[in-house]
Amino acid sequence: MREGLFEIFQEIYSELRPGSSLPELKIDFYAFANVNNTIRLRKGRLLVRLSDLLEGAPENVLRAIAHILLAKMYRQPIDRAQAARYRRYVGSHEIVRKAHLVRQMRGRKRLRGARGRFYDLDEIFEELNARFFHGLMARPQMSWSVTRTRRILGHYDPAHNAIIISRIFDHPAMPRWVVEYIVYHEMLHLKHPVRLRGSRRCVHSAEFQAEERLFPRAGEAEAWLKRMAT
Ligand SMILES: [Zn+2]
Repeated sequence: MREGLFEIFQEIYSELRPGSSLPELKIDFYAFANVNNTIRLRKGRLLVRLSDLLEGAPENVLRAIAHILLAKMYRQPIDRAQAARYRRYVGSHEIVRKAHLVRQMRGRKRLRGARGRFYDLDEIFEELNARFFHGLMARPQMSWSVTRTRRILGHYDPAHNAIIISRIFDHPAMPRWVVEYIVYHEMLHLKHPVRLRGSRRCVHSAEFQAEERLFPRAGEAEAWLKRMAT
C-alpha cells in the first residue's frame, strides 16, 4: 500500500511539474479526529499526512488526494474532476459512518448542534469552505454555544475538533455576513494551529491576520462586533 502511494505521488508530481524531480517524500497516516489531509515542505522534504480513514481507499481516490495536495503545494489549479472524486468518496456513507464512530471513540463534546433557529453552522461552514478553501477543509463538529455568551464570540477547540459559536449570533437581526465572519475566523484557527514562539503563544500570526483580511466585509464586520460589545 505505502509503495503504491509513493508511485502515485511520483506520477501526479510529474504531471503537475514535468521536468522537475520530486523532493524526498514522507507519507504518514494519522489518526485525525476527522478526515483531514495535510502537506508541508520542510527542509526540502515533502511531508504528507493522510487521515487513517483513507487507508484502504481505492486507487482513484488516492490519486485524487495526491493531485489535490500537490496542486495546493505548488499553487496550481485543482482539477475539478479530482476534487469531485475526493469529495464523493469522503461524503460516502461508509466513510461518514466510520468518521462518526471514530469521533465518538476519540471523545466528543456534548454540544447543542449546528442547526440554530435562524442559521445552520454546517451550511455556513461548507459555503465558506467552497469560497475560501477550495472545499478542502474537513468540517469539525460545528455547534452553537449552550449559553448566549457575549464574552466569547466563538472558539475552536482542537481537543474535540469543534467550532463553537456564541448563540447571540443566531438571531434574525444578525446579518449573515457577520456570522460568516465569525465562523471564517474560527476556520482560520483550524488552518493555522497555535504555534509556540519562544514562550509566547502566537494565536493570531501575521499570516492568520493577512488571510483574515481576505474576507470581503472584514472591516464592516469588525465595526459591527465593536458596536455589539458596547
Ligand atoms: Zn481568534
